[in-house]
Amino acid sequence: MHRPTFSDAHLAARAWFLGRAAAAGLETRIDAAGNHSAILRSSSAEAPTLLLGSHLDTVPNGGRFDGALGVAAALEVLTATQDAHVDLPYTLEAIDFTDEEGTLVGLLGSQALTGSLTPDALQAPRGGRAALLAGLARAGLTETRLADARRDPRSMAGYLELHIEQGPVLEHERVDIGIVSAIVGSRAFNLTFEGVAGHAGTTPMDARRDAGLAAATFVVGVRETVVRDFPSCVATVGRVTLEPGAFNVIPGEAQVALEFRSADASQLDALEDALVMRAREAETLGHAVEIEPVGRWEPVPLDTTVRTAIARVARALGLSTVELPSGAGHDAQALAHVTPSGMIFVPSVDGLSHQPAERTAWDDCLNGAKVLLGATLELAGALPVSEPK
Ligand SMILES: [Zn+2]
Repeated sequence: MHRPTFSDAHLAARAWFLGRAAAAGLETRIDAAGNHSAILRSSSAEAPTLLLGSHLDTVPNGGRFDGALGVAAALEVLTATQDAHVDLPYTLEAIDFTDEEGTLVGLLGSQALTGSLTPDALQAPRGGRAALLAGLARAGLTETRLADARRDPRSMAGYLELHIEQGPVLEHERVDIGIVSAIVGSRAFNLTFEGVAGHAGTTPMDARRDAGLAAATFVVGVRETVVRDFPSCVATVGRVTLEPGAFNVIPGEAQVALEFRSADASQLDALEDALVMRAREAETLGHAVEIEPVGRWEPVPLDTTVRTAIARVARALGLSTVELPSGAGHDAQALAHVTPSGMIFVPSVDGLSHQPAERTAWDDCLNGAKVLLGATLELAGALPVSEPK
């Protein structure tokens, strides 16, 4: 699947979604951020909305299930509820959020809807400013109006998202349903190790101050520290650049891109301290070390009432469950700040995602959709349905 935000394939998928919704007799809507929705109204005009959603965009050459499963299942929940003539105390809305994967900005639609889309994010988007403006124009959207997609939190009853796990835990533990406890937080740093550039032939091994060696020692140290002391965290050095970068020159400088994640903010603090200390060890060997923070996202716990409802429904369906954090980002992390939110995970074959071999067995897709439907009904009795003023 290759559906970068606002590509022809992406727009076609979104049109397909609204077409299916309209054919089922549901109301459809596109908001100022391009979020596409199918709506099943409660008979009570004052009823708040329970959002069920995910995203139809994909990473380049991605898989068939990431995002699409949640949108298709949400639509099915609406049509099943309609067919059964069940009147819920809230309006149901199946929503396809714009640009979850970050072709342009990342969580563009869900951040616009929750009011957390910042002007900075639009001025320096990860896909580049030109791509953002061209994409919005293609979809008939305007930058200045994106914020109009913001909704009053009191208009929402909650948010549910079915998604593939994108990792190996459920398959490995032979569990049917994952209940997401939190979406992990992450921190990113650029580190620079200074050395002394020199001739690769004439400088004896014991007379070098090799910045590349300092960086390599740090990379090995990161893994050691996490594996030994922080089993609930992951850390990655995704890029190492050596300067000047030649066969015959001892590196005079090394730049290292470090990122680490955890669902627990105190673990992030402790791991940051430990990794900074690890980097500073290079100073004892004469290297200057610079550490620059370049990104910080706090962990987002998901709502306990929603988690309990998902667990109850899964148990009633005879499905096994486990609570687990999500190591990947999702629209739910934006929604969780403004409304009770929960995520249902189903197993990914071999834990693969963001690539063509991504697969979830049909029975697991069906289990996930049943739990999504069941949780929607279960929450009708469990969530405090606030009357919007
Ligand atoms: Zn996704």
